[in-house]
Amino acid sequence: MVANEPLSKHTTLGVGGPASIYIEARTKQDMIDAVSICRKHNSEYFVIGGGSNLLVSDDGFHGVIIHCAIDHFIQDGDRITVGGGYDLDTFVEKTCELGLAGVQMLSGIKGTIGGAICGNAGAYGGTISDHFESATLLNHASYVHSEDKYYFEFSYRNSILKRTREVVLEATFALTTDDATQLQKERLDIIEKRSKRHPKTDCSAGCFFRNIEKPDEKYGKLAAGHLLEKVGAKKLRVGNAGVYENHANILVNLGGATADEVRRLAMELKKMVKDQFGYDLNEEITYLGNFR
Ligand SMILES: Cc1cc2nc3c(=O)[nH]c(=O)nc-3n(C[C@H](O)[C@H](O)[C@H](O)COP(=O)(O)OP(=O)(O)OC[C@H]3O[C@@H](n4cnc5c(N)ncnc54)[C@H](O)[C@@H]3O)c2cc1C
Repeated sequence: MVANEPLSKHTTLGVGGPASIYIEARTKQDMIDAVSICRKHNSEYFVIGGGSNLLVSDDGFHGVIIHCAIDHFIQDGDRITVGGGYDLDTFVEKTCELGLAGVQMLSGIKGTIGGAICGNAGAYGGTISDHFESATLLNHASYVHSEDKYYFEFSYRNSILKRTREVVLEATFALTTDDATQLQKERLDIIEKRSKRHPKTDCSAGCFFRNIEKPDEKYGKLAAGHLLEKVGAKKLRVGNAGVYENHANILVNLGGATADEVRRLAMELKKMVKDQFGYDLNEEITYLGNFR
């Protein structure tokens, strides 16, 4: 347990002030204990994984940040059960090596299993929910319960966890047996493709805005990056926050950016898209803390 821990150290954007208290939960019991203590003391808490989808305000979080670091990996034939804090890309790498197919499209995505389930992370036509079977959750009353896929109400970059704030302690995936060499090749191809579109070092939170759901568009979505490109987003900069040169929907910390600068840049981009195209962009990232 640490007091006044800078959250800039725990987010891929590298911005954000301190958490009043920062706790690392390495086991399911650690997480249950941490949530129980917060409840007992009536302290506000927020669970983070890899911090790869968060913008934390400059004054930080006045409460307890619980870092989910539960990282067991258990194989039972084609089924894998992993801790909520298990690194998503390591999970993909391991399953490919084991010749288990189903999550290889998620190669290279940052963050943890819990974060991915919360936001139904996905790429290249696949999402974490595709082969997801069930998970053990912890709710605010410290009640542990297991739920199957139906409970999670998965949709585009969304799940029930965004509303309930329940914690994924562990999750089980039902994969299918396949050729390990082929899967590893698919994985490397995806990583190669991603490297052309994403910054090489941590300085972003991936795509900042959600694509616009539009059934008449190809794949049912209008890419936010396409609209941002057209409004000239890549030329825009607020302080040390800017837009990535290879992807107009990726906001980057150019070095020493504040959360306020990233937020102001995001607001400006939203306004430009609204003024020029009439569309309201909504954030894919989660804001944490105080933003005006
Ligand atoms: C370079 C880069 C590329 C990216 N590419 C993609 C992409 O292709 N596709 C995509 O979907 N996303 C992408 N992202 C965004 C991000 O990687 C995903 O959203 C990821 O799933 C977030 O996981 P996390 O552990 O970092 O969550 P965090 O950022 O720590 O938290 C995000 C949310 O998840 C919740 N959460 C975290 N852990 C748990 C848990 N154990 N139980 C319940 N809730 C939890 C938090 O409370 C919060 O609401 C990218 C990000 C980066 C930096």
